[in-house]
Amino acid sequence: MLTNALPDMLQALRRKHHSGWHTSKVAAIVFLAAMAELSTQPAGGLPVLWPANAVLAGLLLRQPALGRPVVWPMAGAVLLLAASAWNVPALLALVYGFANLASAFVCWRLLAQPDAAPNLRQPRAVAQVLAACIAAAATHTIAAGPFLLWLAADAPGSQASVIIHGFLGQLLGYCALLPPILTLPVPASRNRRRTPPRTQPRPETVPPFVCLLAGLTLCFLVGGPGILVFPIPPLLYCALAYRQHITAWLALLSVLTITLGATYGWIPFGDTPDPAGTAPWDMASLQLGALLLALAPLIMSCALAARSDTIAALNRALDHDTLTEALSRQAFLRGAQERLQDPALLRGTGLLMLDIDHFKRLNDTYGHAAGDQVLQAFAQTIRAAIRPQDLFGRIGGEEFGIVLPDTGPEEVAHIAERLRARVAEALTTCTESAEPIRITVSIGAVHDSRANGETLHSLLSYADQAMYRAKHGGRNRVCFHNARHRKHPHA
Ligand code: GH3
Ligand code: MG
Ligand code: MG
Repeated sequence: MLTNALPDMLQALRRKHHSGWHTSKVAAIVFLAAMAELSTQPAGGLPVLWPANAVLAGLLLRQPALGRPVVWPMAGAVLLLAASAWNVPALLALVYGFANLASAFVCWRLLAQPDAAPNLRQPRAVAQVLAACIAAAATHTIAAGPFLLWLAADAPGSQASVIIHGFLGQLLGYCALLPPILTLPVPASRNRRRTPPRTQPRPETVPPFVCLLAGLTLCFLVGGPGILVFPIPPLLYCALAYRQHITAWLALLSVLTITLGATYGWIPFGDTPDPAGTAPWDMASLQLGALLLALAPLIMSCALAARSDTIAALNRALDHDTLTEALSRQAFLRGAQERLQDPALLRGTGLLMLDIDHFKRLNDTYGHAAGDQVLQAFAQTIRAAIRPQDLFGRIGGEEFGIVLPDTGPEEVAHIAERLRARVAEALTTCTESAEPIRITVSIGAVHDSRANGETLHSLLSYADQAMYRAKHGGRNRVCFHNARHRKHPHA
């Protein structure tokens, strides 16, 4: 009866909410996780790891828009559906369903705080995630505690060991499943910048995943307490070589292999490999070991991710001017050199030199701070008017350069004139005087057709000469350098 009523309820909820498809996707994933959880539950015992509530909390953290009240009855319904499919007694299913939801809610609330860092790119995030996982596992243990004790009546070992086994199963589920979900990259369209792999494994070295497979194979071949250690060195190697989410998924694979292998006796673990007969304390020890197995590569990959972020931030600071956020002179010249040598840019490359007119006078009239604001506004105006592939750099003071890759000579002249006009139209408001400041710019342009074989140095010099001709010609104009020193029609 329960099995018949629940699909109708899911349909009704889906119709009621606009983003029902997303909510129902969460419901489907949680349902599969609950089915997997129940399918691995040994007869009369507790699952070695509980994935359903960890998956629910992880999905809500990744998709904050889904964290609406409707998701909780929906998740509760699918947990009951899974339990009824496995003939779990109704009272037990209700208690477990409630405990699972309460536990997932605690985990989600703790990590959804603005100052929590569940993106796991800082070492402190591991401690935050671990604390939330402990709180969530404790919530489940407290909520379902009486029933765990009731179950313990038939289970081997003391009641306390069964409670600990249940708690560690929850904790292991969270610690093994949250990292792969939280580190999963956002889809490419929303991903601003893909971080490159940390190290490219050299072809002659053994790939990290092969080492991990060897470590897991050793678990099956050798068995015993060493099974928890065999995969650790290869997992640390994976953390060094692979992106964070790949390491997290490989750690999850290792945890599942070892815990399920030991539970079902595929991996000889201790003296009693029989799943039903494995003593709860042995199982608790296995869970604790598997927990640390999941945490070791996570801590390492978080520390490495933090280091990569720091290096990326330092590189960005080195390559950009702090005031205008244009490329630094060094980065601009490096990028210009690369574009000039790129054989794919068949239409050649344009180079513009821009110098703001009478900037010293502006500084003297309005003050240096106002001058800085004008420089920032100027940079914004230019950035808004060029293409993403163009390079914009600050050569020094109020002089800027632009590289226009794969652009013909006519288009270079056209772009230069458009930029001159944009700057002349733009009004910059100075905060102190509240008086609009108007500026103009003189531009020298040159085009390298690739047939000329000019060096960057000579092109810069030609653009500079053209820019000085624009100054001498009365400023606020574009001069184009070519063999005949042809001036652009607008000049
Ligand atoms: P021209 O039209 O011939 O280019 O005249 P100009 O006054 O723009 O040229 P000049 O080279 O004489 O003066 C450039 C001024 O730019 C002098 C310098 O104080 C100012 N300047 C350079 N860097 C900065 C900066 O970062 N902030 C501010 N506010 N002023 C700067
Ligand atoms: Mg100037
Ligand atoms: Mg100047």
